Amino acid sequence: MAEFVGPRLYSCCNCRNHVALHDDVISKAFQGRNGRAFLFSHAMNITVGPKENRQLMTGLHTVADASCCDCHEVLGWKYE
Ligand SMILES: [Zn+2]
Repeated sequence: MAEFVGPRLYSCCNCRNHVALHDDVISKAFQGRNGRAFLFSHAMNITVGPKENRQLMTGLHTVADASCCDCHEVLGWKYE
């Protein structure tokens, strides 16, 4: 989802907006469509797009794209 910038925080790879806390990492071995992804219990400073049904590795899920609230870079997606 985002770049690891320090011991406690993950930030947007584009504008360095802080989007998630290290303590909220559930899995670092999660598989996204474009390779390895991190799974967070929650994130901050994001805007969430419309819900859609998407076929993921683990089956069909209702998800919404999550974008940085500052630069609107799409960072990943969110389970609904
Ligand atoms: Zn950003």
